[in-house]
Amino acid sequence: MLIEKAANLILSSNHAVALTGAGISTPSGIPDFRSTDSGLWHKYNPMEVASLSIFRLKPERFFEWFRPLAKRILFAQPNAAHLALSGLEKLGYLKTIITQNIDGLHQKAGSNLVLEVHGTLNTLTCASCYTQFQVEEYIYPYIHEGKIPHCKNCGGILKPDAILFEEQLPKKTWIQVEKEINKCDLLIVLGSSLEVLPVARLPYQAVSKGAKLVIINNQETYMDIRADVVLHQDVAEALPSIMEQIINVRSL
Ligand SMILES: [Zn+2]
Repeated sequence: MLIEKAANLILSSNHAVALTGAGISTPSGIPDFRSTDSGLWHKYNPMEVASLSIFRLKPERFFEWFRPLAKRILFAQPNAAHLALSGLEKLGYLKTIITQNIDGLHQKAGSNLVLEVHGTLNTLTCASCYTQFQVEEYIYPYIHEGKIPHCKNCGGILKPDAILFEEQLPKKTWIQVEKEINKCDLLIVLGSSLEVLPVARLPYQAVSKGAKLVIINNQETYMDIRADVVLHQDVAEALPSIMEQIINVRSL
């Protein structure tokens, strides 16, 4: 029933946008690094170790903490939810994905229109001279030998272009996000508990402009009461069911 309703909202939308969070990548084996109860990271407080000030003071601590996560991300594969979103884009139903994730799994699944509000691991920027480098030549020495990436121009330490705590969100991306939110007539929230600002206020902004709202997340969110459909389910199960329903309706 709710699956049908969600499918119908997507079918009748003109400009659907998805907002994805850590919950879409946990079925791919990537833990939510902000949640301190995920076993891999309980040694550290991510708010502290993944902050800009620690990166500046003790970059080796950041790189040591981040190494197992970087390894998981490098080898992770997109799951059924990522693939369903990529399918929705190809069918013309989904215009943009706004993601809080830095794992690049949407792109691996074939999605083209992805706005990464918390940055990306595909590039690194020198903390001293701001030259940007592609991650490829640095990632294996880092993962296998723990080698900290250094700038070829000035020797400075390279910071992954993922946004750390205390750091500003990428401005250009954020301008596009605002545009998409104001334009959308349907927002689909997937695997985000809507707890991290300023992303958390996007569904409120969309609904205030008259957009419909679908939320698929394991846990409750503050926007559940404003949503047209809420599914407290694993996104990797719910989204493929919605996709199947859409394909069935289309073939009638
Ligand atoms: Zn440099």
